[in-house]
Amino acid sequence: MSKGEKQSKEEYLTEKRFADGVKCPHCNGSHIQRNGKARGYQQYICVTAGNTFPSRQTR
Ligand SMILES: [Zn+2]
Repeated sequence: MSKGEKQSKEEYLTEKRFADGVKCPHCNGSHIQRNGKARGYQQYICVTAGNTFPSRQTR
């Protein structure tokens, strides 16, 4: 399995979680956009409040 495939799977899982409803842990808003990665985790940004948070922090 290539590194690319593993990354794609991770992306898929993140997308699935996103589809399930990622919400901002700060204001519970659902207007979220992807904001790159940090320490291997997908980062999101709350468009409403401008807060960033990692996907792992959300349920
Ligand atoms: Zn927010």
